[in-house]
Amino acid sequence: MSGPVTIAVDGPAGTGKSSVSRGLARRLHARYLDTGAMYRIVTLAVLRSGTDLEDVDGVAEVAAQVDFTVGFDPDEDLYFLGAEDVSSEIRGDAVTKAVSAVSAVPDVRTLLVARQRELADGSVTVVVEGRDIGTVVLPDADVKIFLTASAEERARRRNDQNVAAGQPGDYEAVLADVRRRDHLDSTRAVSPLRAADDAIVVDSSDMSEAEVVAHLLDLVEQRQRTGASR
Ligand code: C5P
Repeated sequence: MSGPVTIAVDGPAGTGKSSVSRGLARRLHARYLDTGAMYRIVTLAVLRSGTDLEDVDGVAEVAAQVDFTVGFDPDEDLYFLGAEDVSSEIRGDAVTKAVSAVSAVPDVRTLLVARQRELADGSVTVVVEGRDIGTVVLPDADVKIFLTASAEERARRRNDQNVAAGQPGDYEAVLADVRRRDHLDSTRAVSPLRAADDAIVVDSSDMSEAEVVAHLLDLVEQRQRTGASR
């Protein structure tokens, strides 16, 4: 296969998915599209509008009107709501707590999936990171990766991050939260988190970030060599 390649990277939180997807895009001189950031920007707009998160029609209405821009550079966070740079705010606690509810609204997903397909139209090489890229957004992606790690390892990484950020460590509580969210994500009605049938499952539990990037790069190059196309 020569020419542009579309790579889908899915998986749960805590697997190092973002760092690895950015690293892969960097090595390929490709674009990087963070679909989670899109759900986060819409969530910020919903919160600012004062709409109740349970008001599915209200949430969908805000989403339909929101004007946002996302960047493609793996080395630069450029996420805009209107003309305002909201790159930091969308990573804050308020958005993180509300984003699951907003991303479960079917009309929100329909809208963002359409936008994601426009942005990853196959004209340039792109690494698209999310939860449902290989299954729903880009079922014809050239390479599909499902990045996973054990619940214990993901909890350990998150707990370490919390401690590094000056918060008290509580591994057991973090592990319970990881398990709860895994259950919610994999059993929700709309776009449950699961590996596409033709995805390559990569378990990063015992791998460093650099090792995972090198492994994914190998997989992409293998695919380019074999030339198989969907
Ligand atoms: O990847 P990140 O943690 O930033 O994603 C934030 C949230 O957006 C996820 O917890 C999930 O609820 C939602 N999401 C989604 N589908 C995607 C990407 C993210 O539902 N493709």
